[in-house]
Amino acid sequence: MNAFPFIEGDLGLTMNDHGLPVLDRTTHQSTVPHIFFGGDAAFGPKNVITAVAHGHEAAISIDLFCQGRDLHDRPGPAHTLVSQKMGMQDWLYDSSVSVDKRHAVPTVDRAKSLRDRLIEVELGFDKPTANHEASRCLNCDVQTVFTYSTCIECDACVDICPEMCITFTDNGDEDDLRARLLAPADNREQDLYVSPPLPTGRVMVKDENVCLHCGLCAERCPTSSWEMMKYTYKSRAAGEK
Ligand code: SF4
Ligand code: SF4
Repeated sequence: MNAFPFIEGDLGLTMNDHGLPVLDRTTHQSTVPHIFFGGDAAFGPKNVITAVAHGHEAAISIDLFCQGRDLHDRPGPAHTLVSQKMGMQDWLYDSSVSVDKRHAVPTVDRAKSLRDRLIEVELGFDKPTANHEASRCLNCDVQTVFTYSTCIECDACVDICPEMCITFTDNGDEDDLRARLLAPADNREQDLYVSPPLPTGRVMVKDENVCLHCGLCAERCPTSSWEMMKYTYKSRAAGEK
């Protein structure tokens, strides 16, 4: 079955059992070398963000293809970390912790949406609710960055952390270490950050799974060994080196 009847059969494209073109998952190149796919046509329905990302990846491939270069020799993404510090207790981001509950998105009456399957079900927030919801941001892009070489092991950050995510302890194997943290780290999907050995022989272990990004550790640290830094990820565009 061809899910894209507008694709002419004599192009020679190989389709899979789902009626989608067989593609290289990295380059988006089809079995006809000069034809590339992106968006829902590539790997099935996803959201518009994924479609835009596919467009970028396919454009990089097309650029390399036109230059006769290896499509797998691709430019990697760029990363930046920028300090958010403006003073001892001031940050470029809103670090206050909110305990507000998430607002439910209003929807159209169910009787109406069940009658018409093409109706848009989610109505979206009004402006004040949208502003309030946005202010619940967890600042996931602002990271705690630890510089082990300046840490004097005063444990002040341990005392102030409201989530007990920082532990200074002897190193050990992962199961042992996870159980010995101030707040045992039982989410195995979240890696622990373990520093190199400190002067007393201990290591600093941080469990990112419970960090609120509140910045209290960075405010308290007398040697600025903790820093709150904004992380930016930038995917490459076609033609970039
Ligand atoms: S940012 Fe806040 S929650 Fe995270 S480690 Fe520092 S003090 Fe703890
Ligand atoms: S407050 Fe700073 S110097 Fe003290 S233990 Fe924590 S990171 Fe090290």
